[in-house]
Amino acid sequence: MIASLTRRALYALATSTEVESLVRAIPPAQDLAYSAARRYVAGTTLDEAIETVRRLTAAGLAVSLDLFGEGAADEDELAATVRGYREAAAALADVGGDVYLEIVPSHLGLDLGFDVCRRHVEQLVEVLPAGARLEISAEESRRTPQIMDLTVALAEAGAPLVATVQANLRRSPDDVDRLLAAGVPIRLAKGAYLESADVAHAWGEGATVAFIKLAHRVHAAGSAPVLATHDAVVREALLEALPGAGVEMLLGVREDDARELVARGVPVRVYAPYGDSWFRYWMRRVAEAQGA
Ligand SMILES: Cc1cc2nc3c(=O)[nH]c(=O)nc-3n(C[C@H](O)[C@H](O)[C@H](O)COP(=O)(O)OP(=O)(O)OC[C@H]3O[C@@H](n4cnc5c(N)ncnc54)[C@H](O)[C@@H]3O)c2cc1C
Repeated sequence: MIASLTRRALYALATSTEVESLVRAIPPAQDLAYSAARRYVAGTTLDEAIETVRRLTAAGLAVSLDLFGEGAADEDELAATVRGYREAAAALADVGGDVYLEIVPSHLGLDLGFDVCRRHVEQLVEVLPAGARLEISAEESRRTPQIMDLTVALAEAGAPLVATVQANLRRSPDDVDRLLAAGVPIRLAKGAYLESADVAHAWGEGATVAFIKLAHRVHAAGSAPVLATHDAVVREALLEALPGAGVEMLLGVREDDARELVARGVPVRVYAPYGDSWFRYWMRRVAEAQGA
């Protein structure tokens, strides 16, 4: 049934708290959903996530570990999130390998204020394992101006970061220029959120063409773009044209491609999220698997 729904309908399900609450209230439904979601999820606990990280690094993949969540509502929730990330950072330091942490700014208090978020992100920068970076996710376009300000401010203060730029957003060429001027490495994604036509190119051709143009823009400025896409045609064309470009993929998506890229010597990082809040993330992945 799920496969026959449109991307827009699945997206509506993915962002519906009612659907999530309904599934979670019925233990057999929740178990069934989690068994389908598991391929995209590093685990619900940190121990499970670290086991997944070990499996990935043993296969020659770099990893970006994220603790699920978005839109923190209060300081208690924020304190728990920071504690969770700090525990993850400590565990990653023991694992070794090329492992980053990833954050979603609203999960660290962006909606409670720029300074609140910055303070919490700084607490994670302090505990990053040696050589690691903090990857900053891109969210809905209404949050993009603050996320760009936050990224540039942290980078100027010396934080080792990677920014995410959504190719579908019409503002992104300017954001790319600003990030490059601040020396921030850029990960390009097509953009996961449904946005209106005045702020974003349409899903499909519009976003894909923008992705290609932005990758060239980053490379022409002397920086190596990270191609966060499972679109093999776009990826291969850009890897051929832009020496030094890397690839990022989501855990559980096109794993054969990831293995084949590693065998060819292309650096591949896998985004591996963990925690209890897997439901909506899973629904987004199901929507994207339709390729619609
Ligand atoms: C590492 C990484 C980080 C990202 N970070 C962000 C972010 O911070 N903010 C944001 O808005 N978006 C982010 N995205 C998501 C991105 O914007 C897209 O929504 C998502 O990657 C799908 O686009 P695609 O480029 O893979 O191309 P698509 O055109 O969607 O897919 C290309 C091909 O891959 C297949 N495919 C896609 N998903 C699946 C799946 N789940 N299972 C099986 N096949 C699949 C499709 O069927 C299609 O054939 C990130 C993506 C990656 C890979």
